Amino acid sequence: MELRRKLEILADAAKYDASCASSGTDKRDSRAGGIGSTEGMGICHAYAPDGRCISLLKVLLTNACVFDCAYCVNRAQSNVQRARFTVPELVGLTLDFYRRNYIEGLFLSSGIIRSPDYTMEQVVGVARELREVHGFRGYIHLKTIPEASPELLAEAGRYADRLSINIEMPREQSLKELAPEKDFAAIRRSMARMRARIDEAREGEATARRPASKAAAPRFAPAGQSTQMVVGADAADDRAVLGTSVNLYGSYRLKRVYYSAYSPIPDASSLLPPQPPPLLREHRLYQADWLLRFYGFELDEIMAGAEGGMLDLGVDPKLAWALRHRESFPVDVNRAPREMLLRVPGLGAKTVEKIIAARRHRSVRAEDLARLRLSLPKLLPFLVTADHRPRGNLLDRPDLRRLVAPKASAFGALARPAAAQLALL
Ligand code: SF4
Repeated sequence: MELRRKLEILADAAKYDASCASSGTDKRDSRAGGIGSTEGMGICHAYAPDGRCISLLKVLLTNACVFDCAYCVNRAQSNVQRARFTVPELVGLTLDFYRRNYIEGLFLSSGIIRSPDYTMEQVVGVARELREVHGFRGYIHLKTIPEASPELLAEAGRYADRLSINIEMPREQSLKELAPEKDFAAIRRSMARMRARIDEAREGEATARRPASKAAAPRFAPAGQSTQMVVGADAADDRAVLGTSVNLYGSYRLKRVYYSAYSPIPDASSLLPPQPPPLLREHRLYQADWLLRFYGFELDEIMAGAEGGMLDLGVDPKLAWALRHRESFPVDVNRAPREMLLRVPGLGAKTVEKIIAARRHRSVRAEDLARLRLSLPKLLPFLVTADHRPRGNLLDRPDLRRLVAPKASAFGALARPAAAQLALL
């Protein structure tokens, strides 16, 4: 098979992997005009540890797999065209795209070829050759196979910037039913091992930085580890999904949990739902995840009042919380502590820092917020500024939700079909 055709198949097959930072955003495409797409295949974006946004060639080594996970288009019984790169082919492609300035790194995953160890050896082989033979300094994200030997995972961490292991399902029982060859305990064990090695490398780095030290700093996945969960393939509700995330962040200090809305596949198993979940569900999960990690919310606070354990699709989780806790508002932008400002719908963490810096010098007014390009209609019912106080009983109005909720059309982008991206070659 021609290399170009392999690339088409294996870049397309990788698009189901959500482990790229751009996956949490709206789906946009430029077919009706404009340029650029947040969807499609081939190149994805990630953030380096120093905050730079980088483009990655996102491919599978192969889409052939001996496992038969019901939700996966690449499963053994799936009737899709298969392809497989050799290690030199993939190394050559990566270097070629890098030299042409198309990419700044590689995101590599794979179906399981013969065994987890054999596959992991091939995946590590690509990274090893890039780093050791070609002196490749670009970013590498390797998706690892939890059932592979700890030695191979350790080697992967020496070459990769980020490693990830998919947790796949929010619940152990669902994994047993839908991916019986996967081992929930092995996934957890591998995550724990990775955590220990990342910590060890960081301690070694700190020691190596001390003036008297002659030790070389060890290297192990300096950009940490992440995971991905398929959402909507089983009956787990949002509370269960987010509960698993809280547990994973707490147990293994993951950098990210990515949520991937289940996409129906041809000849799907009867264990799977006939309809995909709304894409907005994935979006709400990312928003809730953000609140848990950066805004001081507890899971119970986010989910209190959520019907049937599901997040409200009509409004974002912070606005939903504010509408249920109107007694906590309005918040005085010039006096409130940071943690309360972070709870105001429409105020992001960076904006809160700007407000806190500004109010040290002068009183913040509504026009200052407008200058920060904030949505005042959403914000002002919940805020007091130097020149504004919500009118009378605005916060008690039964129709407050209608007044502050985004119009349904704002979600249109999440309902459109996926975009196609230009070919790489
Ligand atoms: S192991 Fe991975 S590639 Fe193979 S069927 Fe399962 S999810 Fe798909």
